[in-house]
Amino acid sequence: MAKILVTGGAGYIGSHTTLALLERGHDVIVVDNLSRGHAHNVDPKRLWRIHLTDTDALVRLMRAEEVDAVIHFAAYIAVGESTREPELYFSNNVGGSLALLTAMQQAGIKRLVFSSTAAVYGMPERVPITEDMPFAPVSPYGDSKVMVERILGWLDQYRDLRSISLRYFNACGADPQGRLGEEHNPETHLIPLLLRAIETGVPITVFGDDYDTPDGTCIRDYIHVSDLAEAHICALESLLNGGPSDAFNVGTGTGYSVLEVIRAVEEVTGRKVPYEIGPRRPGDAAVLVANADKLRTVLGWRPQYSDLRTIIETAWAFEKKRTAKGQ
Ligand code: UDP
Repeated sequence: MAKILVTGGAGYIGSHTTLALLERGHDVIVVDNLSRGHAHNVDPKRLWRIHLTDTDALVRLMRAEEVDAVIHFAAYIAVGESTREPELYFSNNVGGSLALLTAMQQAGIKRLVFSSTAAVYGMPERVPITEDMPFAPVSPYGDSKVMVERILGWLDQYRDLRSISLRYFNACGADPQGRLGEEHNPETHLIPLLLRAIETGVPITVFGDDYDTPDGTCIRDYIHVSDLAEAHICALESLLNGGPSDAFNVGTGTGYSVLEVIRAVEEVTGRKVPYEIGPRRPGDAAVLVANADKLRTVLGWRPQYSDLRTIIETAWAFEKKRTAKGQ
C-alpha cells in the first residue's frame, strides 16, 4: 500500500477520495489551506495547513512522509466567479499546480492524479463526449484546467512524471454512510440547491427552458461523488503499477434534464420543489454527457451509486444532517 498526498482533501471530492483511499488501505496526508475546504472533513492528524506555493514546506513534508504519489484537487471551481476574477483562477489553479509540480520534482515524486473537468471541452459539437475531442474551454475556470493538463503533457515528456487527468462531469451525492457531503459556500450546484429550495420554500430558478432538448432544459451527466472517488483509486493504482499518463472522462454516459432531476428530487423526498423558469445562464451548453467507456475498459472502473435515485437519497440524507447541525 502507498503513501498518498492529497491536496484539497478538505473539499468535497477530495474528502470523499481520502476516505476511499483509507478504506482501500493506503496511507494519506492532506494538504489544504482551508480557503474553501472544511477542517471537519479531515482527521486533524492527517491535515497539513500549507499553501501550495510554499515550496520549501511542501518538499520537506513530501520527503519526511516519504510520499509515493499525489492526488491534486486543490483549486477553485466556480465557473461564474472565474469570469469575474480570472486572475484569481489562473494564479490559484495554474500557479498553485505549477508550484506543486515543482515541489514534486524537487522531492522526486513521479506519480500524479489530477482533478480536471468536462469544462475543458466547452460547448462540444457532439455528445457523448470522448476524450479525443479538442480542448475548447469557454471560461477561465475551464482553461485553467486545460493549462494544467498541457503542463502535465510536457512533464510526462521531459520529467518522466506520469499523470492521469480525470475530467469530471457533474459531481453530486454524498457518502452513502453519511460521513461527508457537499458543502460549498456559496452553493451553485443543482442538486443541493433543489434540496435547499424544499427546505426554505424559496424557489430555485431553472436556467432556461428553450434549449434544443426534449423538455427544453439542459441535460447533464450526474456522477456520484463516491464513484468519482473510486475513479481516483483506479487511476492511482494504474500509475503505481507503472501505467502510462492518460486522461479519462468520469461520467455515467446517461444524461438527465433539469426538470427530470426536479421530478426525481420530488419522488425521493416526497416534497414539492418550488421553482420558476428564468433566463439561460451564460456559458451553459445544452447537453453535456460523457462517453465513459474508456475509464471502464482501460482502468476497470465500475460505478455503484450513480443512479439518480441513490444520488438524491444520499444528498438528501446529508442535507438533513447538515441543517440539523445548523451549518
Ligand atoms: N441549474 C439551474 N439552476 C440553478 C443551478 C443549476 O437550472 O440554480 C442548471 C444549470 O443550468 C445546468 C444544471 O442545472 O444545466 C447543472 O448545473 P450545475 O451548476 O450544478 O453544474 P454545471 O453543469 O454548471 O457543472
